[in-house]
Amino acid sequence: MSTATTPLDARFARELPELALPWQADPAPEPRLLVLNDRLAADLGLDAAWLRGPDGLGLLLGTGLPEGTTPVAQVYAGHQFGHYSPRLGDGRALLLGELTHADGGLRDLHLKGSGRTPFSRGGDGLAVVGPMLREYLVSEAMHALGIPTTRSLAVVATGRRVYRETALPGAVLARVASSHLRVGSFQYARATDDVDLLRRLADHAIARHHPAAAAAGNRYLALFEAVVAAQAELVARWMLVGFVHGVMNTDNMTISGETIDYGPCAFMEAFDPATVYSSIDEGGRYAYGNQPHVAQWNLARFAESLLPLIADDQDRAIALAVEALGAFRERYETAWSAGMRAKLGLGADLGDAVTGPLVDDLLVLLRDNHVDHTSFYRGLGAAARGDAEPARGLFLDLAGIDAWLDRWRALGPDAGAMARVNPVYVPRNHLVEEALAAATEGETGPFERLLDAVTAPYDERPGLERYAAPGPEDFGATYRTFCGT
Ligand code: AMP
Ligand code: MG
Ligand code: MG
Repeated sequence: MSTATTPLDARFARELPELALPWQADPAPEPRLLVLNDRLAADLGLDAAWLRGPDGLGLLLGTGLPEGTTPVAQVYAGHQFGHYSPRLGDGRALLLGELTHADGGLRDLHLKGSGRTPFSRGGDGLAVVGPMLREYLVSEAMHALGIPTTRSLAVVATGRRVYRETALPGAVLARVASSHLRVGSFQYARATDDVDLLRRLADHAIARHHPAAAAAGNRYLALFEAVVAAQAELVARWMLVGFVHGVMNTDNMTISGETIDYGPCAFMEAFDPATVYSSIDEGGRYAYGNQPHVAQWNLARFAESLLPLIADDQDRAIALAVEALGAFRERYETAWSAGMRAKLGLGADLGDAVTGPLVDDLLVLLRDNHVDHTSFYRGLGAAARGDAEPARGLFLDLAGIDAWLDRWRALGPDAGAMARVNPVYVPRNHLVEEALAAATEGETGPFERLLDAVTAPYDERPGLERYAAPGPEDFGATYRTFCGT
């Protein structure tokens, strides 16, 4: 059970050579494994003990690949904060190739922080320990919450100093995804004016992610519809759990419907649609409450890229795409409303006419009282069992929440069901920062304990109270996250 000698597949590079530039990872002077995902390794047919040894580290760093493996930097374009860049691409990442998962599906094995490439522009091509452990932690937490996401296989410290504001320890993240195809991949292919390339890219995406579209009368319109649906459902999941992605550029939106690119993301604590953590998101474009609108905007860019495939007559192609894009809102609302009903422990048989106003009034109360998103829904589970204090105690306006609780109780919430959808532990910002600061100093214990908590998020355990509590108020108000570190 090891790929020590078997080359990784190169399906992407073979089918789409125009989008794949063969490239090699930088050597690491003093590699040291910081964290390995044993379960995921086993699912990918990789032996964890072998990965821990020198040959395994060679795979995880891209410096000692099985003979015949052809790592590539992928090229893509993208709208960053609304501005189009015709050529982005993997500036510090490499696709090593594909592996077959135990579920039968193909997975990309991909590195982040593996050195400069022709797409690096001004960047150094490197990554540092803190942010790579951050991606590992948050992506694995998202997976444990049942949210489609790229996964994390390992973080290896390279022994290199990387210069940011100060010298920091370098690291490479090995990440796994059902693919790294993004809206930006299609924008790049469309901009080449090579319709054959665009068609091959769309066919590759259909085969890997949305095979049902192949049987449709208009397969490329069906691809678009499938991505609209996948993204509507994904963003609804983010909203329900309080996740703020932070940098929803079109190059960071996947065709598979998986969450990708954990840079300046964070979990919201006090509920407020205006919540922004990213230091560079000055206008609040990617604020918590804007995420569904931005997703739809990005999908419009995807539709534009697909127009030549949707119909020969471009007016007709536009009409079809506009109609398909219009389904986003309903799809999103349906997914989000169903999710809210589940969070409140209410049956699917209750119509929106009953639950809609209840939910709307709750959101106003949560925002006006600066209530911690995660603690509230978990606490509400206790209220369904007869102890309202954990939820009630989060409000200043007690008359307001008491009136709301009366209306909610009258609908007969199911406490057991609530405990299965409302997490106790999410990667809270102050805990993440504390764990990463310790790991940067060489102490990985806090990271491991936090990872344990957030990868079993619904299972409340004694001794972990600290992981369930909001951060200090002054921390939340000033907390900022950063891209590209
Ligand atoms: P992101 O905002 O993380 O999606 O990154 C946008 C673009 O910047 C991508 O093309 C990345 O490959 C590139 N990039 C980010 N950080 C670096 C870095 N340190 N060196 C080179 N390229 C980078
Ligand atoms: Mg990115
Ligand atoms: Mg990034």
